Amino acid sequence: MKDQKPDQLRRLLVKAPLLVPLLTTLPAAAKEKLLSSFIGNQSTDTPPIAGKTLLLKNADVVVTMDKDRREIKQGCIFIKGNTIVAVGTESEVPQTADRVIDLKGHIVIPGLINTHHHMYQTLTRVVPAAQDVELFNWLTALYPTWEKLTPEMMKVATKTAMAELMLSGCTTSSDHQYVYPNGIRLEHSIEAAQEMGMRFHACRGSMSLGKKQGGLPPDSIVEDEKFILKDTQRVIEQFHDAERGAMIRIVVAPCSPFSVSEGLMRDSAKLARAHGVSLHTHLAENISDINFSKKTFNKTPAQYVEDLEWVGHDVWHAHCVKLDDYGIKLFARTGTGVAYCPCSNMRLGSGIAPVRHMLDAGIQVGLGVDGSASNDSSDMMAEVRQALLLQRVGFGPEALTSREALEIATLGGAKNLNRDDIGALAPGMMADIAVFSLEGIGLAGAQHDPVSALVFCNPGKVAYNIINGRIVVEDGKVTTVDVPVIIEQHNRLSYQLVEG
Ligand SMILES: [Zn+2]
Repeated sequence: MKDQKPDQLRRLLVKAPLLVPLLTTLPAAAKEKLLSSFIGNQSTDTPPIAGKTLLLKNADVVVTMDKDRREIKQGCIFIKGNTIVAVGTESEVPQTADRVIDLKGHIVIPGLINTHHHMYQTLTRVVPAAQDVELFNWLTALYPTWEKLTPEMMKVATKTAMAELMLSGCTTSSDHQYVYPNGIRLEHSIEAAQEMGMRFHACRGSMSLGKKQGGLPPDSIVEDEKFILKDTQRVIEQFHDAERGAMIRIVVAPCSPFSVSEGLMRDSAKLARAHGVSLHTHLAENISDINFSKKTFNKTPAQYVEDLEWVGHDVWHAHCVKLDDYGIKLFARTGTGVAYCPCSNMRLGSGIAPVRHMLDAGIQVGLGVDGSASNDSSDMMAEVRQALLLQRVGFGPEALTSREALEIATLGGAKNLNRDDIGALAPGMMADIAVFSLEGIGLAGAQHDPVSALVFCNPGKVAYNIINGRIVVEDGKVTTVDVPVIIEQHNRLSYQLVEG
């Protein structure tokens, strides 16, 4: 078990700052005695227990997203270790377990899967110069601040974003990390995910095309291409787990066509395919992006990625707001995925991704909150609602149903990440489960269709979140880290970064 004392001390000092002078003068043993009298010796660590059983019973409805899309009233789920063993009504599921949780008054869904994020951006929410600008100006306003990021900031921001995601029902997240100043490495994000207990697809992002070479980012923030490829290979070899049920996977993810060279895109695809890992980047995000592509490559974004062989089941692209008909057919034919990021697209005024057309064409669409500097939230359930609403703004009231929106955020995400072990509640799937109360103020009067209520209304934060069989949120509280301590650290570092 990890040492709790530094966290306990910080938490105590936030709550009782007058103790600071006293604690600094005390000898270590006396300090410890004083601390335990205030805090006790309770642990916030709840490791998963192999072979132990957990029964969730009596839920008002269990939304399975299984092949028949069953919605089971008075539903039960029986879990052994990290795997779901049985899903059904009381008579279909064993009724004794090491731990039993009665979920009367709750709805249970597969854990939500976030397929696009930049977690470090949690430190740079609502930066005034980047509040009211489109993508390219937004980026150029923020690059100089991101250049000052440190490893500590990266870890704390990742934990902050993950805590918010977990409280909103998310159990698996990708993170597209493409800035590496001041000794930052991908393992700073990975270590944060391990501490939080989140299933994590860490995208080794990169930027190599500085202003001097016709790219958008300043030269001081880009990396050398040989180093990028070497470091990407290193993290694949060190951290990528290809096994079913993996908690950590690596993704090869140059940032965007306007921040890396064509050569790096090609070499990245070769590297990823040599190791059987996925590929991810930003594509066709707004009109400036399209103009850059036509001017620089004399190709549309779809033609560009087709020529680079950045299409296939192992590739998913973020945004695709301006993906044309040729691109939609290409992606459908090749099994290429799309991460739909409605809040970010609205926030930056990028436009409305043609998700209805993509689904009709057979494209696998997932959902992403995108970075916290262009959302400015990491709330997956709120994103499901916006996914539905924005499609209706663009394509009418029948453009997306509540159940389709939920499917995008679960099964769609799993497909994007090339996984068949998450996204549904069925025997043999990993035990990744989100539980919301149906009794809160936001759902009052919507009990006749609790599944739609979850999407159309505001269900608030989860009651429980279970990842890999481990309860990471219980009674609305994150069990793996002390959230008030993380918030205090995060706010201090954010001031330091943005105002410093
Ligand atoms: Zn993004």
